[in-house]
Amino acid sequence: MREDTSTAVDLLTESLRAKGMRMTPQRAVIYEIMKRIKGHGHLTAQEVFERARDRLPGLNVATVYRTLEMLHEAELVDLMAYGTEVRFSLRDPKHRHCHLVCRNCDRVLDLELDEIERLAKRLKTETGFAMDVDHLTLSGLCKRCGQV
Ligand SMILES: [Zn+2]
Ligand SMILES: [Zn+2]
Repeated sequence: MREDTSTAVDLLTESLRAKGMRMTPQRAVIYEIMKRIKGHGHLTAQEVFERARDRLPGLNVATVYRTLEMLHEAELVDLMAYGTEVRFSLRDPKHRHCHLVCRNCDRVLDLELDEIERLAKRLKTETGFAMDVDHLTLSGLCKRCGQV
């Protein structure tokens, strides 16, 4: 367990350094929280703040938001924007996905990228348009909300 944590911090330090960014306790704690929720959905800055504030006295939501955006720039965290809401999740190269968001109940389903990549490839060939497929968000109605 301890070893796992220090490996994660090493990876973070290295990734930040590669982008010319410094490691700080704040960044370490927030990254660790993102790592722990891996595979358990996508958190808002507010939700990350609630999990981090005990360990980082004086922390505020704006700082958490900035830190998450920075981790996104360092390609460690994925960002999902839907409407006015922004949610974050750990980037996992083994689980690349995009999102199906229900516009009625806000439920989020993950979708493997294969289908979308096929579409992207065709678009590229036919129109030259390069679509951003990673962590794309598509809106629609979920099964429950679609049944009227
Ligand atoms: Zn729904
Ligand atoms: Zn996601």
